[in-house]
Amino acid sequence: MNKNKIVDVVIANGDVVSKGKRYKSSIAINDGTIVALGDKSSLPDAERIVDATGKIVMPGVVDPHVHIDEVPENRAGTYENETQAAALGGVTSIIDFAWQGGDRRIIDNDKTLIDGIQHKIEKGRDSYVDFSVHGVLHRENGKTLDDLSSAIDMGVTSFKMFMSNYPVGVTNGFVHRAFERIAELDAVAAVHTEDPSVCDELTAKMKRQDRSTPDQYPRSRPDYSEAIAAEDAVQMARELGVKYYGVHTSCKKAAEVISSKQEDQSLIRAETCTHYTRLTEDIYDKLGTFPQIAPPIRTETDVDAIFTHLKDGSLSVVSTDHSVYHKEYKEVEQWWDSPFGANSIQTSLPIFHDEAINKRNFTYPKLVELMCTNPADTFGLSKKGSLEPGKDADIVIFDPSKKYTVRSDNNASNSEFSIYEGQEVKGSVDKTFVRGDLVADSGQIVGEPGGGKFIERELPDWSC
Ligand SMILES: [Zn+2]
Repeated sequence: MNKNKIVDVVIANGDVVSKGKRYKSSIAINDGTIVALGDKSSLPDAERIVDATGKIVMPGVVDPHVHIDEVPENRAGTYENETQAAALGGVTSIIDFAWQGGDRRIIDNDKTLIDGIQHKIEKGRDSYVDFSVHGVLHRENGKTLDDLSSAIDMGVTSFKMFMSNYPVGVTNGFVHRAFERIAELDAVAAVHTEDPSVCDELTAKMKRQDRSTPDQYPRSRPDYSEAIAAEDAVQMARELGVKYYGVHTSCKKAAEVISSKQEDQSLIRAETCTHYTRLTEDIYDKLGTFPQIAPPIRTETDVDAIFTHLKDGSLSVVSTDHSVYHKEYKEVEQWWDSPFGANSIQTSLPIFHDEAINKRNFTYPKLVELMCTNPADTFGLSKKGSLEPGKDADIVIFDPSKKYTVRSDNNASNSEFSIYEGQEVKGSVDKTFVRGDLVADSGQIVGEPGGGKFIERELPDWSC
């Protein structure tokens, strides 16, 4: 590169982590794109130099499991709030969900999945980070599948279904039909797996027995109900040859099902979420229904197993399942009156870093694979997830030695609590850049609403 050319930014002298390596380097950014890496003296002059000495310089986190502003009656989060939380947490791309017809509860109207995608794109116009959506298939009719090809044309190349007892759950027969169509289109099928009738049976039993305190909640959705549904889903995916992505794997039994049916990463992939790597079920004694998430937080044995499967690659992504409710909806007398879900996107990287790197001897390249490169590659975000010339300059400068205590007072999210309340972590996000623009700096938002944009995704190639 011509030494005299001026670029927008050089991030200088950091510990760059990308593509399986960690090395000292500087990064030159121009027009939102990474243009060169190397020794600072070899890079062009820059209008702005950001010193990253002693810091980790990594790709922005790609969180492929985020819910924003989708439940009208319990609404707490908007794109403006929740993507500030993302930026403060080092997350530069999210994949949210588009529901058929619009918001999650509006399921009986004339509108379609395509309307739902447009509805979410419109909501995202105030986003601080880049975003995409998965199409959710919750209407069990043939017409649902007519929309998939148009959705792919809009850059929505993955579709989620719920094997669960939510109002949006679908039958295995419908999942089968959808898998066939998604396989034809070479897109990705993502599935929430908890056997609905087992969970319904146990929930009804607990209501009869008045086991209403939050510590009882995990018993209503046991690990084997997740493993049973995962078995059904993965078995069908293999028979039908669809690219399958198992959502929020929480326990040893489900992870073992996935791992046992996975020859490589070309057909069967799965994620876990940060909370399943850090929390155990005693959290329900401490924080009541705030961490009421489905599947539930499990045991120490499960946390250890999740790390085993992250290490061997059978689980290849760490996401958040960030979803937002005001406290008032969560603070209920009986756990079954609480909605499912909790906010966590602002703390995901520091918490997972603390657990994986500081406590369990994971390496930085492995962390970057799980939180950046694999989610980008799995979902066709071809400009995201690694630091190399031509990629978007989505970059996090992370201070590995800064200690802090998680406090919900610092939430940028509209949700007033944290499932990690009071936890001490070592390692903190210093700066977050989205396509070369500094969006978060030392815990403050410095970007603008609308700085993030909707990203049209490609059909991902899982063969490599
Ligand atoms: Zn979710």
